[in-house]
Amino acid sequence: MSRRGFKTRCAALLLILSLAAALLPLAAAAEPDPTEEASQQEESAMEEALRASGAIHAEVSPGVRNIVKRACQLTDIVWTPLRNIEGWKNYSGNRFLAGRSYTGLPYAQPHRSGSYVPWQTSLTEFLRQVANPDSAMYSAQAISQVQKNPGPYYACECSAFVSWAWGLPQRETTHTLPQYSTVIGGSISNLQVGDCLNLEGKHARLVTDITYDAHGSLTGIEICEETPPAARRIWYREGSSSHPLTELQTDFLDKGYVILRSKTRDLVGYSHSCAVPLTGDVCPVCGANPYRDLPLNRWYAGAVAYVCNQGLMSGTSADTFSPNAEITRAMAVMMLWRMEHSPDSVGTVPFRDVKTDAYYYAALRWAWARGIVSGTGADRFSPKAPCTRAQLVTFLWQTAGKPNPKQSSCGFRDVKPGDWYYKALLWAVENGVVSGKSADRFCPKDHATRAETAAMFQAVCQLRGSFMGR
Ligand SMILES: [Zn+2]
Repeated sequence: MSRRGFKTRCAALLLILSLAAALLPLAAAAEPDPTEEASQQEESAMEEALRASGAIHAEVSPGVRNIVKRACQLTDIVWTPLRNIEGWKNYSGNRFLAGRSYTGLPYAQPHRSGSYVPWQTSLTEFLRQVANPDSAMYSAQAISQVQKNPGPYYACECSAFVSWAWGLPQRETTHTLPQYSTVIGGSISNLQVGDCLNLEGKHARLVTDITYDAHGSLTGIEICEETPPAARRIWYREGSSSHPLTELQTDFLDKGYVILRSKTRDLVGYSHSCAVPLTGDVCPVCGANPYRDLPLNRWYAGAVAYVCNQGLMSGTSADTFSPNAEITRAMAVMMLWRMEHSPDSVGTVPFRDVKTDAYYYAALRWAWARGIVSGTGADRFSPKAPCTRAQLVTFLWQTAGKPNPKQSSCGFRDVKPGDWYYKALLWAVENGVVSGKSADRFCPKDHATRAETAAMFQAVCQLRGSFMGR
């Protein structure tokens, strides 16, 4: 099977709750051997059973979801070397053969002096080099570098893979990854998506999905890893003969592996790559677009791409974005909270139209405590009411810390200096967060559309130097 399978699986993670039933069977490895094939048939059968049983996927924060998406990018990339490449010579068999297709990104190849994939060189640039027979990555010059520093050379390197998926600033090793982590005790029931199973000096693996049955019992753990010269995903499942769940315990955790949880996992960003678009990505450049109602030539397409790819918004269904639909006040609060990396919150809110089990409760509690939102009356928040343009601008301004605007007026004739949102609007206009619906009208009471909301959030994120990471 193709990259499409990988991508679909990644998308399923994105749409955990709404699309749990849409999972497709596992993708095959690049070079299947007979055991792998048998194992994959079993995987498919188990996937089918999983779907039928209504397996529930672990819910993850946007940062952790980005870890998985970054891992997907690196494992989904398909490339075919034009010439043989010798890999890290410490690994026998670590070669990339001309004409064969590989998944997984070989790390840190010195195809250009000082540029290491994927830290300083994009996936697009890597593929460009792959397609160039005269590229330094095929040359003796590259080989000479390997003598000097064989470590980071053409390896599908497990710890580099985890380092990049975690959004760390540089390539770490199995010895240094713990410095960035909370070390968790060794039972598989402690594993969470985004965790690394690590054994110093040996191997590092990433947890990219976890499933439970309707009673909350653990039924499966997906491990993603890079082992020269290939990337792999393996589901460990209850009842599987090739990879039973207990194997993770007996062969790893009972044998010295520890669970590492990145301390910065909620801050990890993700950028769409036109070279490896994942399902759910939106991009006017390469045309990636899962939504049939989202014309990529409209003014808001870039903004929608941005907020979708950052995990701030998602579709209204698997194939619709509904750009002209309104957003509710609750949805606006959710977006603000996600933009701030879903911080923990405590306490209560004074609104009697808000239940403590509402999907937005943690977000609202945070926003209320921070003074970012206020009610529509003394004890009402009106979560389902449409969010007006004036309200949204005010929420964003208050999230930004109520900065003082430099200007004292704006050119809208439907806005007065005494209006409750006036300072927020001045700040938003002078920073390019919002513009009028026409040259001289802001239309403060109009309901914000999803497209307008996307544009405002993109502008705010870019104003403060991007949402999260790269
Ligand atoms: Zn693209």
